[in-house]
Amino acid sequence: MYEKLIPDMIVESVYEIDLNMLKKRGINNLVIDIDNTLVPYKCKLPDKKTIEWFERLKQNGFKICLISNNTERRVNEFREKIGVPGIAWAIKPRKGAFKKALKILNAKPNETALIGDQIFTDILGGKRAGLYTILVKPLSKEEFGWTRLMRRAERHFLKRIEEYGDQF
Ligand SMILES: [Mg+2]
Repeated sequence: MYEKLIPDMIVESVYEIDLNMLKKRGINNLVIDIDNTLVPYKCKLPDKKTIEWFERLKQNGFKICLISNNTERRVNEFREKIGVPGIAWAIKPRKGAFKKALKILNAKPNETALIGDQIFTDILGGKRAGLYTILVKPLSKEEFGWTRLMRRAERHFLKRIEEYGDQF
C-alpha cells in the first residue's frame, strides 16, 4: 500500500525535471496536473515561463496530456494556451482518467510519467495506473479544506520517507 504513495522522483518545481533522464528511462509521454503543479491554484492562465517549458517539452519530443480534478473550463483554458489535450473532472486517484490519458497519448504506462503536487491524488493515481511518478512542491498554499487536510498527512508521510528512505 505505502509503495503506491512514494513518488519515484521529488523535485522543487517542474523546471527541475531532468528531461534527458526521462528519455533515458524510455519515457516519452507526460501526464501533467495543473493546479499548484504548473501554476498557483488561483492563477487563471499559464504564464510565459510555463508556456516556454511546454515548448521545450514538445521540441524534445514529449507527448503531453493534462489531467485535472478541476473543471472543464479550467482545463480548456490551459489546453488552448498550451496546445495539448487535457482531461477535466479526473477524480484522481481513480485510475479511469489516467487510462484515458494513456489512450489519448497512445502510450504504454512504462513510457509515461505523471507530474503532480499531491501524493494522495496525483502520485497514488499515477502509480495505480503503472506510471513513473514525479512529485513537485505545491506552488501555493491556498487550497480547499479537504486538500489542506491531505497536506498535513502528506507532510507527515514525506518526513517518514526522508527518515526511512527505501526501507519504509
Ligand atoms: Mg494539483
